[in-house]
Amino acid sequence: MTRKKHRRQREKGISAYAADLDAADINRERHRGRELRQTQWWKRQTAKGVCHWCGRQTGAGEMTMDHIVPVARGGRSVKGNVVPSCKDCNTAKEQLLPMEWEAYLKDARDTTLDEDASD
Ligand SMILES: [Zn+2]
Repeated sequence: MTRKKHRRQREKGISAYAADLDAADINRERHRGRELRQTQWWKRQTAKGVCHWCGRQTGAGEMTMDHIVPVARGGRSVKGNVVPSCKDCNTAKEQLLPMEWEAYLKDARDTTLDEDASD
């Protein structure tokens, strides 16, 4: 019956979520990220050189743009979804599971408080 077939197609449409992002979407957001990096807004975000995640002062030149929701999971390159991040945090966030990332963050923040400009 055609009705049944139609329903199956709709269900497939609903399940089309982050996993089904195609390469074009990801490329587009990465490109937008590069554009956003050229803006005055972003320069203001990085001017302080303080990592959004761990709070460490790493210098403006060391800041990277980190997506709160990763592009690969459907995150957009918009002001509300990008933060200045040190390279350590950016790499860690990419590689860790959400729970591990939470633990990393807690640890990083504690360390920042202890260190207090020991450099
Ligand atoms: Zn950091």
